[in-house]
Amino acid sequence: MQSSPLMISGILHHAEVAHPDREIVSCVTDGSMWRYDYSAFAERVRRCANMLRDIGVRPGDRVTSLAWNTYHHMELFFAVPGIGAVLHTANPRLSDDQIAYTIVHAGSRALFYDPNLAEIVDRLRPKLVDVQSFVCLESNKTRNDPCYEPMLAAASSQLEWPRFDENEAAFLCYTSGTTGDPKGVLYSHRSVVLHAITAGLNSALGFSAFDCIMPCQSLYHATAWGLPFVAAINGCKVVLPADRFDGASLQQLIQEEEVTFSGGVPTIWTMYLNHLERTAETTGSLRQIVIGGSAVPRAMAETFQNRFGVQVRQIWGMTEMSPLGVLSTPTPKLAEAGQDVLDDTIWTRQGRRQFGVELKIVDEKGQELPSDGESAGSVLVRGPWVIERYYLSDASALDADGWFDTGDIATIDEYGFMRITDRKKDVIKSGGEWVSSIDIENAAVACPGVKFAAVVGVFHPKWEERPILIVEPHEDSTVTAEAMLAHLAPHMPRWWLPDVIIFETVPLTATGKIDKKVLRERHARRLVQ
Ligand code: ADP
Repeated sequence: MQSSPLMISGILHHAEVAHPDREIVSCVTDGSMWRYDYSAFAERVRRCANMLRDIGVRPGDRVTSLAWNTYHHMELFFAVPGIGAVLHTANPRLSDDQIAYTIVHAGSRALFYDPNLAEIVDRLRPKLVDVQSFVCLESNKTRNDPCYEPMLAAASSQLEWPRFDENEAAFLCYTSGTTGDPKGVLYSHRSVVLHAITAGLNSALGFSAFDCIMPCQSLYHATAWGLPFVAAINGCKVVLPADRFDGASLQQLIQEEEVTFSGGVPTIWTMYLNHLERTAETTGSLRQIVIGGSAVPRAMAETFQNRFGVQVRQIWGMTEMSPLGVLSTPTPKLAEAGQDVLDDTIWTRQGRRQFGVELKIVDEKGQELPSDGESAGSVLVRGPWVIERYYLSDASALDADGWFDTGDIATIDEYGFMRITDRKKDVIKSGGEWVSSIDIENAAVACPGVKFAAVVGVFHPKWEERPILIVEPHEDSTVTAEAMLAHLAPHMPRWWLPDVIIFETVPLTATGKIDKKVLRERHARRLVQ
C-alpha cells in the first residue's frame, strides 16, 4: 500500500474537491455575519499560508491565536499547520499572567488576535518578547498592528501544500491550569487526522453530509474537540457563534442556519435550556448535542430527549487526549436490556470505548479492576492521540507500559460503559470512606430551582473531610436548604448528605466548568467555626 502521510492539508484538500459548495457561516465579533463555502475557504487558507510565510513564519515555528469561534480562527486552524508551523490556541478566559505564561512558554513568533481582545494583548505586550508580528483579525485599520484582511488580500492564492512527516506538530494546546501552571500538549498531524476520522464514526458522533454543526466548545478548548476537522472530512455545514454563547444567540443561529448538531460544556446547555424555558421556544432542527468537559446532569439529558427529542451524547476526554476518550452511544446489548436500562446508561455514563483509545481502570497497586459497575479505580489510557510527554518536558508522562494516568476515577459496567465518579483532586474522603461529589451534584441539579450545583470536600475536625454543597439557584427560584436536603435524601446514603448548603454564585473556570479549586479555598474553614 502507499504510505501517504496523514496531513491536515489533506483534510482541506478533500473538503475543497469533495464538497466545495458546503457552507461555512460565521458570526463576527463586530456583530456582522460572514458566509462562504469550502471552496472559497480553501482559497483563503492558501492566502493565509502565503501571508504567514511572508511575515517569516517557518516550519516548526509557533504561532498563537487569541480568538473566538470565527472563520478567521478556522482559517488559521488549517493554514498554520499546513505550512508545518504549530498553532498555539491561547485561552482568553485565563488570567493575564496565565495567558502570558502560555505564549512565552510556547515561544510564539506571531500572535493573531480578535479585535475585542486587543486590550488583553496591549497589557501583555511588554512580556511577549519572542513575538515579532502582532496581527489584528479585523478588516479595518483601527489599531497600530497590521490587520489580517489587507494582508490576506496582498498574499498569493497559489500554493502547493508541503508534505512532511505526519508526526510533526500541528497544535499546541494547554490544559486550563486548574492545578498549577497550564501544561502544553502538542498534537501531531497524524493524531489530529486519526482523531477526526474516529470522532465522525457512528459509534461516536455519527455525522452525515446532511449535518450542520455548530461548535459551542471554544476553538481554543482542545481544538473544539476536533469538530472543524470532523466537519471538513464529512462534508458538514459549519456555523460559528464567535463569542456569543448565550441561549438567545445560539437559538437564533440554530433556527436561521438549521443547525442539526452542536456541542459544549454543560454550563452552555444550562443557559440554553433556561432560554427555552423562558421563551417557550423549541429546539427546531437540532437533532443531537455532544456534552462533556464535566459530568452531564441526568436532568439535562432527560429534558433534551423527552421534551425536545434531541439526543444527548456524553463525551469524556481531556486536553491530553485530543480530547476524545469515550462516548455514550447505544449498543445492541444495551437495547436488549430494555428502554430503562438504555436511557439510564446513556444519560448517566460518560460513554464506551472507541477504536483508537485503549482504556482500563486500576486499583492503587496498578492491578486492573473488573468491569462490574462497582469497582472504582484510576482510569489509564493509551493510543495514537494520547499524550506522550508535556511540551518541553524531559520526562515521559507515561508509565513503563505506555499508559497515561488521566487523574480520573471511574467504574466500568457490564455493558462496557464508563462512569466517572470523581477526579483524584476532587475526591472527598470522610472518615476514610469515599463520597462521590459527582453523584451528589447530579442529584442536586435535578432539584427544581437549581441552576448549578457543586460539591467539594472541606476540612472537618472529626471526619477529616466532609462534603458541602454550593448551589446557584435560578433567578426566580425560592428553593431552600431544607427542600434540597429532602430532595437529596432518597438518592444517597445518609452520611453522604452535605453538612451545609450554601447559596451563592458558582465560579467558572476558563473553559466554563465549575471551579472547585476556588470553592475549596473559599470555604476551607466552613466546618471548623
Ligand atoms: P482541565 O483539566 O483544565 O479541566 P480539560 O478540559 O482537559 O481541562 O479537562 C479534562 C477533565 O475534565 C477530565 O480529566 C475529567 O476530570 C473532566 N471531564 C471531562 N469530560 C467529563 C465528563 N463527561 N464527565 C465528567 N468529567 C469530565
